[in-house]
Amino acid sequence: MKERANVVIIGGGVTGCGTAYNLAKRGTENVIIVEKNFLCSGATGRCGGGIRQQFTTEANIKLAMESVRLFEGLSEELDTDIEYEQGGYLIITYEEEVEQFKKNVKLQNTLGLKSRFITPEQAREIVPLLNIEPIAGATFCPTDGHANPFRVTHAYAKKAREMGVNIEKFTEVTGIETQDGQITAVKTNKGTIKTNVVVNAAGPHSRDIAAMVGVDLPLKPYRHEILVTEPIEHVLDPMIISFKTGIYFSQQKCGAIIGGIGDPEEPPSYNVEGSLKFMKRMAKTMIELVPAFGHLNVLRQWAGLYDVTPDAQPILGWTEGVDGFCQANGYSGHGFMIAPKVTELISELIVDGKTSMPIDDLNVKRFEGEIVGEAYVVG
Ligand SMILES: Cc1cc2nc3c(=O)[nH]c(=O)nc-3n(C[C@H](O)[C@H](O)[C@H](O)COP(=O)(O)OP(=O)(O)OC[C@H]3O[C@@H](n4cnc5c(N)ncnc54)[C@H](O)[C@@H]3O)c2cc1C
Repeated sequence: MKERANVVIIGGGVTGCGTAYNLAKRGTENVIIVEKNFLCSGATGRCGGGIRQQFTTEANIKLAMESVRLFEGLSEELDTDIEYEQGGYLIITYEEEVEQFKKNVKLQNTLGLKSRFITPEQAREIVPLLNIEPIAGATFCPTDGHANPFRVTHAYAKKAREMGVNIEKFTEVTGIETQDGQITAVKTNKGTIKTNVVVNAAGPHSRDIAAMVGVDLPLKPYRHEILVTEPIEHVLDPMIISFKTGIYFSQQKCGAIIGGIGDPEEPPSYNVEGSLKFMKRMAKTMIELVPAFGHLNVLRQWAGLYDVTPDAQPILGWTEGVDGFCQANGYSGHGFMIAPKVTELISELIVDGKTSMPIDDLNVKRFEGEIVGEAYVVG
């Protein structure tokens, strides 16, 4: 392992690999990713791959819209088919949600997003198998979609390697050294790397990393469970999602349905075991919306962690009091979809000292003031 780096990135998920790629693309030499396990072993390799722009805060909408612009060219840019498909996101709307969702669409439209509120019958035109009886409508954005998180992350890593980035797998960060408030080194179980810049892209473990230099990140890990079914013929274009029930599911290119459901009773923890409770709730809720899916066979289920902040928006940028410590975490369940823009912004911040989109409002300092949160979260 190299003894010195210009930038050490902690974490080999989509954030770490995307940041390394963008740093190398901007000409930064001697970048090292330190990953305690294998690439995609954290949340990235457990995620649903959904990419939506329909959010309720300006910051999330803009990050997602810019990311979609980048996703559209990513297969070509990275020379890998990332299995990107834009089948839209259909946000199921129940009676009590109608007024608020119409307002949310208005905000999205003012920012240039072509989302719209549609009737139950229009929703059924998009998804012929949809049971529209319990629903009052839906919001729909045709440019939302999904991609393969493994392909995206490995493609970033491959390109980064080609440009000289070192990836140290199975290497755990055990400490960070500072002198007079400046980062000087990263300690790992395989040796020490001298550096003045560290990117904290450790997903749900970012809080533990920050604690190494006495910074208290307001991050909590929450288990989220998900499943995949046997592949079937193509029947579903958009991702279907409901914030009332917490369910989401989409059909992948291979024909499999991938989906999960949040559990409002889930306590914060690092537990990633699968449960029967999830399987029952998932099956029941999915079948209510698409009764024909009652015939599907589940291949497997698994769980991963969301890194959740108090306002469900990411923590990005430098950390006051610890020079050279950059945060890129706190994605609250939507870090894959905004990774292309976030990782570009982090690289701009490190290389140019400024970003092409303002990210000050996403700095960790914001939690000292009043918090206005994102409402479209799978809880
Ligand atoms: C079930 C589920 C479904 C999801 N669905 C979606 C979705 O549809 N769309 C979407 O956009 N997002 C989704 N997400 C969220 C998304 O997966 C994450 O926001 C995103 O993958 C975060 O990527 P990351 O690289 O920041 O973190 P991670 O992928 O968690 O990577 C962090 C890495 O840091 C490593 N690490 C931790 N501690 C150390 C240490 N001390 N030393 C070295 N390495 C360390 C870990 O091993 C890990 O590989 C989902 C998440 C889950 C769990």
